[in-house]
Amino acid sequence: MKRKIYLRLVGIAALAIFLTMASMTYIQYDILRSRVKQDLSTSAKLLKDTRYFESETVDVKTIDLSTDIEELRVTWIASDGNVLYDNDTDALKLENHRDRPEILSAFETGKGESVRRSDTMNKNTFYYAVLLDNGTVLRVASKAESIISVFFSVLPVIAFIVLIITGVCVLLSRMLTRQLVSPIEELADNLEAERPEVPYSELDPFVNIIKKQHSAILSSARARQDFTASVSHELKTPLTAILGYTELLENGMADEKQKQRFYKEIGKNSNRLLSLINDIILLSELDRPINDPHFESLDLYDIAKETTESLRINAVKNGISLEFNGDHSTINGNPDMIKELVENLVENAIRYNRPNGKVNVRVENEPSVKLIVEDTGIGIPSDEQGRIFERFYRVDKSRSKAKGGTGLGLAIVKHIVETHEAKIRLSSEVDKGTRIEIEFPQK
Ligand code: ADP
Repeated sequence: MKRKIYLRLVGIAALAIFLTMASMTYIQYDILRSRVKQDLSTSAKLLKDTRYFESETVDVKTIDLSTDIEELRVTWIASDGNVLYDNDTDALKLENHRDRPEILSAFETGKGESVRRSDTMNKNTFYYAVLLDNGTVLRVASKAESIISVFFSVLPVIAFIVLIITGVCVLLSRMLTRQLVSPIEELADNLEAERPEVPYSELDPFVNIIKKQHSAILSSARARQDFTASVSHELKTPLTAILGYTELLENGMADEKQKQRFYKEIGKNSNRLLSLINDIILLSELDRPINDPHFESLDLYDIAKETTESLRINAVKNGISLEFNGDHSTINGNPDMIKELVENLVENAIRYNRPNGKVNVRVENEPSVKLIVEDTGIGIPSDEQGRIFERFYRVDKSRSKAKGGTGLGLAIVKHIVETHEAKIRLSSEVDKGTRIEIEFPQK
C-alpha cells in the first residue's frame, strides 16, 4: 500500500514534468518560428524596397549577396516560374519553381510563406516570398532548428531541472505517504483499545467492521475453549466410573450380585461415552465453516415418520404413547441432518416425559412447512427456556444423565435449524408439557 501510494505520487510528478517539458519545448519552438518568419518577411520587404531586382539594368551574373547575408538564401523567380537568380546554387540548375506553395501564393496574393524539412533531419527551411511590381517574385529562405533539435538543445537544462524536481518529488511523496500511512499503522496497533483513535473519518466504517470481527473471533475462541473444557469434564465422569467398577471387579471382593451390577454400570457408562463422542463429532462437523452440506429436495413427512418409527421401541419401553401424523411436505434440506433433528426432538420428548405420557409428532404443509413435536412431559421452567440450546446445558443434570442424555442434543438441533434457515419456536409449561415447532423457509 505504502509503496503503491509512493509510486503513484512519483508517477504523477513524472507526468507533470514530462508535460512541462513538452510544452516548454513547444513554446520555445514557437518563439523561434515566429522570430524566423518575422526576420524573413522583414528581409524580403527590405530587399523589395531596394527595387534592385526591378531595375532595367540588373544583371544576374553580377549580383552577389552571399557575402553580405550569409544565412539568407535569396531566390529570384520570373513570372513563368523559372529561377533567374539564386545566391546559393546555380540558377540554371534549379527546376521551375512555379508549384512551390510560397511562390504560388505570392503570385496570387502578393506574398507567401511555407516551411519544409531540410535534407538534414534537424533543420527546417522557412521560406518567404513577395511579388515584385514587375511581376517577378523574390524569395528569401532561412534554415532554422526543427522542434526536435530545439528539444535537444534545451535537453541539458531540462534534464537538470527534472533531476531536481524528481528529487523533491521523491522526498515529498515519501513524507506524504508516511503521513498518510503511519496513523493507520498506529490504529492497527491500538485496535484492541476500547475507543481507538481513528485518524480519518473515512476509516470509521472499516474500524467498526474490524472491531466487530475482532470481538466475534474472540468470543468464538472463548466458546471453543469453554466447549473443550466441558467436553473433557463430561468425558471424565463416565471414564472414572468405568475405572472404579473395573478396580472393584479386579479386587475379587464383590459377590455375584454386585458383579452383575458393576457390569451393568460399566455398560451404561460406556454407552454414555459413546453417545457423547458421537454428538461431539457431529457438532464439530457442523461447526466446520467450509462444510457445505449437500441439500436436496426431500419429503419431510417421510423422513420424520421413518425416524419416529425407529424410536417407537424406546417409547414403548418407557410406557409412552407415540403418535405420528401430518401431510407430505417438500423441503430443501440435507436428509442426514433432518433425521438427526427429528431424532433429537423426539428422543427428548420421550426422555423428559412421565409414565403414560404422550408424544405427538406432526408435519404440517399449510400455510408453511412445519415439524411439530409435542409432549405431555415435565416441561421446562420459563427462565431456563432460553438456555437449553446451549452446549451441555441441562435443566436437571441427573435426570438427563440417567436417561442417556448428553446435553448436546438441542445444540445440534439449533445448528441444523440455522443451516436450513428455518425457525424454531418453543413453548413449555412445567408439569404440562413441551411443544417445539420448526418452521422451514418457503421455497
Ligand atoms: P440432553 O441430552 O440432556 O437431553 P438437550 O440439549 O437435548 O440435552 O436438552 C437440553 C436440556 O433441555 C435437557 O437436559 C432438558 O433438561 C431440557 N429438555 C429438552 N427437551 C425437553 C422436553 N421435551 N421436555 C422437557 N425438558 C426438555
